[in-house]
Amino acid sequence: MARYTGPVCRLCRREKMKLYLKGPKCDSSKCPMESRPFPPGVHGRERSRQGSEYLTQLREKQKARRIYGVLEKQFVNTYKEANRQHGITGENLLTMLELRIDNVVFRTGWASSRSQARQFVRHGLVRVNGRRVTIPSLRVRKGDVVTLIEKAREYIVVVHNRDTINRQVPGWLELSADGFGATVLNPPMREHIDVPVREQLIVELYSK
Ligand code: SF4
Repeated sequence: MARYTGPVCRLCRREKMKLYLKGPKCDSSKCPMESRPFPPGVHGRERSRQGSEYLTQLREKQKARRIYGVLEKQFVNTYKEANRQHGITGENLLTMLELRIDNVVFRTGWASSRSQARQFVRHGLVRVNGRRVTIPSLRVRKGDVVTLIEKAREYIVVVHNRDTINRQVPGWLELSADGFGATVLNPPMREHIDVPVREQLIVELYSK
């Protein structure tokens, strides 16, 4: 599935908040949100739009898409699937996004960003229940065990990430003793998902 390949810092600037798309740079003083916390473009600084209801909903949707690195078509399909399930559609949507294998790899702290986690998956460094997976959008289920292959555990980037990233592993995942395996205990509830998105606005947008 395709992915966004353009500059990512301007996505944060457009949403006027840090979306943490670049790993270590996001916490450093090099983050453009520190020096230019206004929307990109020639008129970004001047523009102060009146926030219509539609615009607010659109921005929430774009924010969610950008955080998880999903393009519009795939996002709409995920929404439709969430809408067909029992329960609250917005929460279903976030749970489904959170269960993507690239997000799980990101949550474990092996990768510094979701895009790097995606690359790990694409390069075949990740196993689910012992089977090689290369599709970043693959959704894990309760009881699945996600592991990093032996060779990748020695990679400088992985060692560096594990040494430097102090990311809290969410309660719905359980890391193995060596830190290279993660078991999905349960699909995450909304309170376990720390993304700053108001999912109800996304539902309102797509319900029009
Ligand atoms: Fe966003 Fe990270 Fe770029 Fe800062 S460095 S603007 S948080 S992607």
